[in-house]
Amino acid sequence: RTVYVNGEFLPEEAAKISVFDRGFLFADAVYEVTAVVNGKLVDFNGHYARLVRSCTELGLTLRLDEHALRDIHQRLIVENALQEGGIYLQLTRGNGGDRDFHYPPADTPPTLVLFTQARAVVDHPAASKGIRVVTCPDIRWQRRDIKTVQLLAPCMAKAFAEAQGADDAFLVENGYITEGSSCNCYIVQADNTVVTRPLSNSILHGITRKALVRLAEEHGVTIEERLFTPEEARNAREVFISSATTFVWPVIAVDGQTIGDGKPGPVTLLLRKIYLQML
Ligand code: PLP
Repeated sequence: RTVYVNGEFLPEEAAKISVFDRGFLFADAVYEVTAVVNGKLVDFNGHYARLVRSCTELGLTLRLDEHALRDIHQRLIVENALQEGGIYLQLTRGNGGDRDFHYPPADTPPTLVLFTQARAVVDHPAASKGIRVVTCPDIRWQRRDIKTVQLLAPCMAKAFAEAQGADDAFLVENGYITEGSSCNCYIVQADNTVVTRPLSNSILHGITRKALVRLAEEHGVTIEERLFTPEEARNAREVFISSATTFVWPVIAVDGQTIGDGKPGPVTLLLRKIYLQML
């Protein structure tokens, strides 16, 4: 693979980052993952806008504008002949010269890395079969709206799910589901209303979520933004998740309890379909 590091396109074996990079030492870094389908970026504007917001919240300087950043993404798609998958971008506060908690001077050059990941998105088997999830406590920090690379808690949640024979974990705080370990969560009520947690600092403001809320309204599907409990999820007619790497995946079991008849439900499949049509 060709990867991008600080202005250069290099073979992945040749790419180097300092041991004093603050992304490595302190997770002092933000990231984005943009899906690629048919060699085209999905919702790049949305991902760029969120990256700018993450940088602003942390006082990180993104030295490239939307056009320049899109060009880097597109060159990686071409160099790696990427048809379907995603592009990962990480921006760190750079090399602080030593291990020092204090932020380095504001003119310290940030570290920007991008690489491609080829994988099935449109025809992924989980999209038609659905996934099984378990709930576990949300032990993350309180600024989940900032897309930082502090991802040990979600890694632990996924390991916990795997140990239970499940595919992923839904995180629970104060008795309510916040989101999945790397996705936003939805339940479908008996009246076909889709329920999802409102935006706040407690969850990542998903770019896929934003598109789905808009598309649902255009197609007459009602979305209600409110908190919901693991018990409501276990008893919901349908449950599903969204993210840039999955788009929409049905959830067919929560904590070992089968959802509906154990098959992906009609509202979930409709939303996945209209999302794919939008592409
Ligand atoms: N929530 C969390 C914790 C995530 O890590 C992600 C994606 O990685 C999402 C939600 C979904 O966001 P998006 O649709 O922008 O990928």
